[in-house]
Amino acid sequence: MNLILLGPPGAGKGTQAKRLEDRYGLKQLSTGDMLRAAIAEGTPLGRQVKEILDRGDLVTDEIMLDMIAERIAQPDCDRGFILDGFPRTVRQAEGLDETLARHGKALAVVIEMKVDEAALFARVANRAAQSTEKRSDDTEETLRKRLGVYREQTAPIIPYYRGKGLLKSVDGMADMDTVTRQIETILGFQPANAPAS
Ligand code: AMP
Repeated sequence: MNLILLGPPGAGKGTQAKRLEDRYGLKQLSTGDMLRAAIAEGTPLGRQVKEILDRGDLVTDEIMLDMIAERIAQPDCDRGFILDGFPRTVRQAEGLDETLARHGKALAVVIEMKVDEAALFARVANRAAQSTEKRSDDTEETLRKRLGVYREQTAPIIPYYRGKGLLKSVDGMADMDTVTRQIETILGFQPANAPAS
């Protein structure tokens, strides 16, 4: 099963994707993590994208589409994957469709995590304070920028997927366990800690 977790920065996509990976063996594919790894390793790609991430802008669609096409073809994605932070533009969504079709794969669902923007500031500030690996883009200024980028460039993919009948949404402001249960229900998985009935 292949799915997308969609939502603005700080919505909790990474947390939920990791839980689904641990519980169901679906591979979490976080393009933000991949880019940060490239930066940390000092690869040519890392050097190319570092400033873009620090500013809170988007890396080009071509780079992102190549990265995802290469990644989903690997065997650890055979059981399914969770896209976390990708696609972020309509062009990426279209390119993803082409890539999936080429590999004989398809999306089962796109789950939008709906959140209140004001509350996101508190969350991201908290993440920055607690994180041991410092994310250089977890500042109030870049969050403001990234939210603007989300509204302008990423939100248009919501109607794109709604039109394909793939869109579902969950209340991203609920507590983490409730969000997980909402997602598990959408995916048709038995919630891991549901009381026996
Ligand atoms: P994230 O960890 O998903 O918040 O991503 C961190 C940063 O990586 C973003 O602010 C962008 O600069 C870059 N990035 C991650 N995924 C994408 C993507 N699909 N398209 C363009 N840029 C991306």
